[in-house]
Amino acid sequence: MNSRPATLERLRKRLLELRAEILSEGDVAIEPARTDPTAVGGEDEAQALAEMNQVIASKRNRERTTALARVQAALKRLDEAPGDFGLCGECGDPIGKRLEVMPYVELCVECQHARDGSPKGPGRRHLRDFR
Ligand SMILES: [Zn+2]
Repeated sequence: MNSRPATLERLRKRLLELRAEILSEGDVAIEPARTDPTAVGGEDEAQALAEMNQVIASKRNRERTTALARVQAALKRLDEAPGDFGLCGECGDPIGKRLEVMPYVELCVECQHARDGSPKGPGRRHLRDFR
């Protein structure tokens, strides 16, 4: 038996803290397109800036949603299969120190890199479907 109750308990605490943290931030409001001609050069630039702000805001939103989902999933794994917690979901090796920093990770560094190395996530086309 290789259960490490103290470690798991610590990780669980950390996950709960993270979850509270994410939730306490509330919804990240997408900033309205600010047209401030004094701040930037011209219309095009202002427009570009506004679009960039929206991209950043929605990216942050998505990241938080993803983070929350990962934290929840990690808590679930911790409950359902504490013995497997901390093992890489792909190769089965212990994730190790990475867990201390990000208790919700599912992959070891190598597998994570292998995954990140490929396509840069799904398309970023669904930002806004205005017509
Ligand atoms: Zn791995």
